[in-house]
Amino acid sequence: MTQNTPFLTFPENWTTGLAIVAHPDDLEYGAASAIARWTHQGKNISYLLLTKGEAGIETLSPEETVRLRVEEEIRSAAEVGVTHVEFLDYSDGVIEYGLQLRKDLARAIRRHRPETILSINYRENWGLPGTWNMADHRNTGLALLDAARDAANRWIFPELQEKEQLAPWKPRIVAFSGSPQSTHAVDVSEWIEKGVASLQHHKAYLDNLEDHPDPDFFLRSLAADAGTHFGCEYAVKFEVFTP
Ligand SMILES: [Zn+2]
Repeated sequence: MTQNTPFLTFPENWTTGLAIVAHPDDLEYGAASAIARWTHQGKNISYLLLTKGEAGIETLSPEETVRLRVEEEIRSAAEVGVTHVEFLDYSDGVIEYGLQLRKDLARAIRRHRPETILSINYRENWGLPGTWNMADHRNTGLALLDAARDAANRWIFPELQEKEQLAPWKPRIVAFSGSPQSTHAVDVSEWIEKGVASLQHHKAYLDNLEDHPDPDFFLRSLAADAGTHFGCEYAVKFEVFTP
């Protein structure tokens, strides 16, 4: 993919981040290299996954897959300096946009109080002809943008404050990696190896995918393309919103 508009530099004047995605491996397909850079700077970043990825391995039962993929995700997170990983109990593959999802995400945002929220591309495609983004990614991203606003409004989901003592919180940035409408980028030339290692921890998942790309080749290709447009060797691009 080519993009003519130069990317803006991703702001780094924040200290707390929360990454919210649908599946184990979503953050490892690009964002993890940037997360490695940011945790090295001393930023405190946590992960929240809506599902445990139980529909991801065709040859294994969902119960067995959950056990493997939760372990793999925790190792992937640790590789890039993230020690806090939470999972919600949404079902893999059938996440629906709706008030329950918005409320669960608003609750998480109020609980963690992140300045920056990170996620994966929620647009309909990946910027290439013939690509179609997964329903879980589309629905999660849309709900996340709305929940970032809900979290800041005391009159939306008032029970979060009244029953759970979760005060409103307004994140400054919501950013989606890999979006075809990316606006910002971050130099990960020193961190690409960490990002690759992070994806390689998803061994059981990758080994059971037909024709999965080599993590090192795939992530370096993506990051080199973004880097070409950003003016460095390797970069990760994000679509950034300021809700
Ligand atoms: Zn996914």
